[in-house]
Amino acid sequence: MFSKILIANRGEIACRVIRTARRMGIATVAVHSAADAAALHVEMADEAVLVGPAPSAESYLVIDNIMKAIRDTGAEAVHPGYGFLSENATFAKALEKEKVAFIGPGIKAIAAMGDKIESKKLAQEAGVSTVPGHMGILKDGKEAVKIAREVGYPVMIKASAGGGGKGMRVARNDAEAEEGFHSAVSEAKSSFADDRVFVEKYIEEPRHIEIQVLADGHGNIVHLGERECSIQRRHQKVIEEAPSPFLDEATRAAMGAQAVALAKMVDYRSAGTVEFIVDKDRNFFFLEMNTRLQVEHPVTEYVTGLDLVEQMIRVAAGEKLSFGQADVKLEGWAVEARVYAEDPFRNFMPSIGRLSRYRPPEETDDVRVDTGVYEGGEISMYYDPMIAKLIAGGRTRDEAVGRMRGALDAYYIRGVSHNIPFLAALMAHPRFAEGRLSTGFIDEEYPEGFRTEDALHDDPRLMVAVAATLHRVTEERAAAISGQMHGHKRQVGDSWVALMAGEEYPLTAVLNDHGADIAVSGHTYAVRGDWRPGETMFRGEVNARPVCIQIDRDGIAWCLTHAGSQADIKLLTERGAEMHRMMPEKVAPDMSRYLLSPMPGLLVKVSVEAGEEVKAGQELAVVEAMKMENILRAERDGTVAGIHAQAGASLAVDEKILEFETADG
Ligand code: ADP
Repeated sequence: MFSKILIANRGEIACRVIRTARRMGIATVAVHSAADAAALHVEMADEAVLVGPAPSAESYLVIDNIMKAIRDTGAEAVHPGYGFLSENATFAKALEKEKVAFIGPGIKAIAAMGDKIESKKLAQEAGVSTVPGHMGILKDGKEAVKIAREVGYPVMIKASAGGGGKGMRVARNDAEAEEGFHSAVSEAKSSFADDRVFVEKYIEEPRHIEIQVLADGHGNIVHLGERECSIQRRHQKVIEEAPSPFLDEATRAAMGAQAVALAKMVDYRSAGTVEFIVDKDRNFFFLEMNTRLQVEHPVTEYVTGLDLVEQMIRVAAGEKLSFGQADVKLEGWAVEARVYAEDPFRNFMPSIGRLSRYRPPEETDDVRVDTGVYEGGEISMYYDPMIAKLIAGGRTRDEAVGRMRGALDAYYIRGVSHNIPFLAALMAHPRFAEGRLSTGFIDEEYPEGFRTEDALHDDPRLMVAVAATLHRVTEERAAAISGQMHGHKRQVGDSWVALMAGEEYPLTAVLNDHGADIAVSGHTYAVRGDWRPGETMFRGEVNARPVCIQIDRDGIAWCLTHAGSQADIKLLTERGAEMHRMMPEKVAPDMSRYLLSPMPGLLVKVSVEAGEEVKAGQELAVVEAMKMENILRAERDGTVAGIHAQAGASLAVDEKILEFETADG
């Protein structure tokens, strides 16, 4: 066995590999960019080596720098994680040359599976079912149309070098095929510096189901069942689970056998994943093989009881698999949710900044949090904005999903926007509960994007009842403290009026030893819990239903977060409510004549000048965040009155970039 390994990655996956290596008694070396000097993976590792400045192209992706770190530390093997150099054959060759073990497959497998057309050809040879289509490279838009017609609409135009959902277009007619060809080519060129695209049939109502394989260097190969990853946004996975609610035993066995056959064909070693697209009749078609550890591997670990990183390390060290296919038992159910720093209510705009508060849910045998961040740490613009992977398991799918909902409720993140409201809404969605998944789920269920209306609480009065309890407890304590000072305790009344979303809720709140009994609009809520003023989380039960509710204060308002929804609730005495009714309503300032930065980022350019007349749709400015350039366009015709920020400025969210003339000048 190795005595020291280097992890050529960052973030949660580096931390996850380090954890297993440590358990196996193997010393670890982290590599890091200048921006990651204080990152969690650096702190966790036994040694750390700086490999370059913040941009990954100048640090994590520079093979020479990683090789130097290996030489300097004497690491005997390298785990590449996912992304970065994990599927880079040149890197694997460099390691081989210096006799350093690659904790992954052989060079032949990496190279063969790195290209979609090549791997599809190999899969066909291995007897694997592939998506019907045409394996040639398209020359131009005309040819794209011709071949698309032969394959039969709808079709998918795909970059051969593709990855991460990039360079992919669905076309349902000639015009879309022509247009899809051009946009797929240009995206492929800019993302992969490789503009080869091909056409295949678009599978309708597709489900993404993949098979985990594991092989040693002695010819033993097993599969570890499937994962379903059909909940995707822009072809990127959001929720994954194992097993799939869709597969029967026969389909599972057939997919497993084909995955193993393909792995055999390329002399596969280590952990790998064969991805399939499955149609509504359970016909399955090979998509691609990922020759590395997948982001979503923890759900497989839950149902198999295996540690995949440990298996990868053992295989790389030359050990034989200690079990065969018959020993692989799949038990229970696991779901994974990817927690991202992004704003689901603003078209999933990436969010960067400091995690001012960060409290993940407690880890148990059934709740796992894989993360690379910590409270006070930074979500930087240089890397993937994933905060963590949250994995919940149980004996059944319902139990796993229930635990996931509880864990999402308990996940406390402040300082950056995050997608927990969206994840919670998905987990609560009736169609998700039924297991009627497809890769179109998110577009079909949220056709206008994710809106606050999509994150409504199923019982808003429950939120009122809890806010009333918190308020009553707080008032009682304030009265007790001032009573001690003045020798006379003020009486706190039981009758209150809650204000939430413009509505009044008259209620009574009676405290008892275990919490409070609340009567609101003819409903009673027994709120139980030992919350104390100042705590940011209410954990307890409401009418015997366990709840975990996050608490923030905004002036006198209680801002409660539960089940992905947020409620701002004010509690007033009856007299206070009367006065409140007489207060003029505050009118929000009209910001429509400003162009505001929708995200924190760098103002790359201002494309217009003061006094210029602009047309709706015209480019006004470009803001860069998370390595993406976002073009801000005019929403309607108008005249630019003035410029507030200059190119090169670092913008905060909602910062003014420029101003339009108003109709009245
Ligand atoms: P990438 O390497 O970019 O991740 P994949 O080939 O794995 O690309 O495809 C990613 C996703 O795109 C799949 O999970 C699926 O949702 C969709 N997809 C790919 N090919 C097809 C197809 N032929 N028909 C329908 N959907 C497809």
